[in-house]
Amino acid sequence: MADPKGFLKEGRQVATRRPVEERVKDWDEVYPDGIGRALLPIITPQAGRCMDCGIPFCHQGCPLGNIIPEWNDLVWRDDWEGAIERLHATNNFPEFTGRLCPAPCETACVLGINQDPVTIKNVEVSIIDKAWESGLVRPQAPEWLSGRTVAVVGSGPAGLAAAQQLTRAGHTVAVYERADKIGGLMRYGIPEFKMEKKHLDRRLDQMKREGTVFRAGVEVGSEESGLTGAKLRERYDAVVLAMGACEARDLPVPGRELNGIHQAMEFLPQANRAALGEEVEGQIMATGKHVVIIGGGDTGADCLGTSTRHGATSITQLEIMPEPPTGRPAGQPWPTYPMIFRVSSAHEEAGERVYSVSTKQFLGDDNGNVRALQLVDVVFEGGKLTEIEGSEREIPADLVLFAMGFVGPEKQGLIEQLGVDLDERGNVARDKAYMTSVSGVFSAGDVGRGQSLIVWAIAEGRAAAAAVDEYLTGSTTLPSPIPPTARPLMA
Ligand SMILES: Cc1cc2nc3c(=O)[nH]c(=O)nc-3n(C[C@H](O)[C@H](O)[C@H](O)COP(=O)(O)OP(=O)(O)OC[C@H]3O[C@@H](n4cnc5c(N)ncnc54)[C@H](O)[C@@H]3O)c2cc1C
Ligand code: SF4
Repeated sequence: MADPKGFLKEGRQVATRRPVEERVKDWDEVYPDGIGRALLPIITPQAGRCMDCGIPFCHQGCPLGNIIPEWNDLVWRDDWEGAIERLHATNNFPEFTGRLCPAPCETACVLGINQDPVTIKNVEVSIIDKAWESGLVRPQAPEWLSGRTVAVVGSGPAGLAAAQQLTRAGHTVAVYERADKIGGLMRYGIPEFKMEKKHLDRRLDQMKREGTVFRAGVEVGSEESGLTGAKLRERYDAVVLAMGACEARDLPVPGRELNGIHQAMEFLPQANRAALGEEVEGQIMATGKHVVIIGGGDTGADCLGTSTRHGATSITQLEIMPEPPTGRPAGQPWPTYPMIFRVSSAHEEAGERVYSVSTKQFLGDDNGNVRALQLVDVVFEGGKLTEIEGSEREIPADLVLFAMGFVGPEKQGLIEQLGVDLDERGNVARDKAYMTSVSGVFSAGDVGRGQSLIVWAIAEGRAAAAAVDEYLTGSTTLPSPIPPTARPLMA
């Protein structure tokens, strides 16, 4: 146990973000010198608040099964080397989760029953940032090669975790990615102000040194690549599909065809490229515009923070569901992850959130550009949404961004070519060992789970790697944190 009286002496403390007026002028992370450094002066007593409970529910809250009390104790004792060893034992990429995870571990923390929970995510990011700075993160190349080959299609957190585990187990692994750079949604979806890409590049460098081969700019299953599903199976002993759930949800209401209405994933990748100094021809800009974001989740918040940095005139984020309460509702008791009103860094900076509204139509000007959006108030009753008569109104909109989630993986191309079965939700179906209906073809991450989170993608990538290793060699010592059917803790 860390400090036996830690939680009695110390309150919860988080790092201070840079002033809003400063940070909206750049794309850097919102913490001074990055979050790891910002946390260093306060993190030891924070780790000391951990009570090392008999049954640490934070383990159940974290899909990776991170051994949280152990690394809290090590941090408190100033054993940072021990802490990173323990953290890496369950999480390949704590620098991603430590920045981007919504931390379901914290809403499951036992201290959270009647006090503020331990700042678990902050301890995690402090450990990994310090480990990188101290040279404690080194390549772990395999001692021998199995002679077996694996293709991983998709380079998001699921594909990267599977690739790292399988490479370290001695298999020869190639990761294919259709984008020009590796990283999946962490590369071109998530903005710099949430996670600077240098963290991704540093990890990719480690993976290359371990022996993972990366093939960016190759869309497997496309005519141009010449790499069909059949060829992939012929060339590799096993295949891991980690292609994400990239099919975005649309809103087919009148006026959808007007100029100025885009999917978030048309807007964010361009902004991410431009933020890092690339010339982006015809970039969608929010500068001087009335921006309306449809969808109240993470993607919407990323559009909001990006529009703020572009210099939008106004930003409105619409959400069809009612405004959630600020405290845990009775129906979502500890240790579940409650739906409560949360304020992200982007929400601190600008914008207005409007709840319980639905978009009826988009209105255009004479040139075919969107100029306004007509919305209506809705109530959620008896499990369905009903429009409130007479509540229709217009709000100005020169740029509309859809951030309504993703309906599943893209089916054309590789998925069709391989002929893998889909489940009732249109995701790639798999058995309890992550194998699809096609022998030797596995799946990990959003492609099988549906739109989810980085922490689940890493957990699935690790588990799928264990299943592939067993398929290739008959046994495995790789850890398998979750079955494909695992879901967040629910009431
Ligand atoms: C804007 C945005 C912000 C988000 N913010 C957060 C957050 O803050 N925290 C969090 O936990 N989660 C967040 N998420 C969700 C999270 O990013 C995803 O759950 C996670 O990235 C899924 O990982 P994955 O490896 O399954 O797939 P992805 O990250 O989607 O990667 C799949 C990759 O496969 C590639 N691909 C697809 N088909 C092919 C093919 N045929 N050949 C080659 N490559 C192919 C795609 O180009 C893509 O790069 C966010 C999502 C979005 C869209
Ligand atoms: S990965 Fe997420 S859930 Fe797990 S310990 Fe880190 S912040 Fe908590």
